[in-house]
Amino acid sequence: MIYDFHSHTFLSDGALSPVELVRRAASKGYGVIALTDHVGPGNLGEVLRQILADCALVSKYWGIQAIPGVELTHVPVAAIAELAAAARRGGARLVVIHGETIIEPVEPGTNRAALECPHVDILAHPGLITPEEAALAALNDIYLEISGRPGHSFTNGHVVQVGRVAGARFLVNSDAHEPRDLLTEEFARNVALGAGLGPEELAGVLIGNPQELLRKIRG
Ligand SMILES: [Zn+2]
Ligand SMILES: [Zn+2]
Repeated sequence: MIYDFHSHTFLSDGALSPVELVRRAASKGYGVIALTDHVGPGNLGEVLRQILADCALVSKYWGIQAIPGVELTHVPVAAIAELAAAARRGGARLVVIHGETIIEPVEPGTNRAALECPHVDILAHPGLITPEEAALAALNDIYLEISGRPGHSFTNGHVVQVGRVAGARFLVNSDAHEPRDLLTEEFARNVALGAGLGPEELAGVLIGNPQELLRKIRG
């Protein structure tokens, strides 16, 4: 069973429609996929309207759970809390924040603002996360992402090292933009091992944490 809480469709910069992405995921053995397109204040409402409709349809007819979410991306730090709340009001079941990767000029302070926000579920690709930020993730029950995406994955090892000391919890996500980016069980395992997680930690990160997040989402 594959769980993946971060993906993109052509509603932002992904290649496929929401229903086709879910279809492709289902055919690869996924049990759960969250659709988390890039949003800011302008497209938040429209993206959620379309994602909610498509997720409801495919979850009803196919044996896969499609979760409507968003990834707040490159929004001003000062606006993260209000936009995360707006995403919830708009029906997002999962709120992901695009963290401070080392390959982009994400506004400094994004990681911290995300980790202090009660509406945030996942901090994606948090780059050179600090011990203080990792402690906030643990305290506020926000998952840190181990990324399967080239580039964003450069700091996976650092994220595991700092997050583990703080007691933070991890998820392996694809951040898929194209069908070839979707996870397989083997690739998810290898991304986790490559990030420095031990074999004894795999079940928790790949199965236990996703199931716990699902319980929170179903709430
Ligand atoms: Zn991102
Ligand atoms: Zn993304």
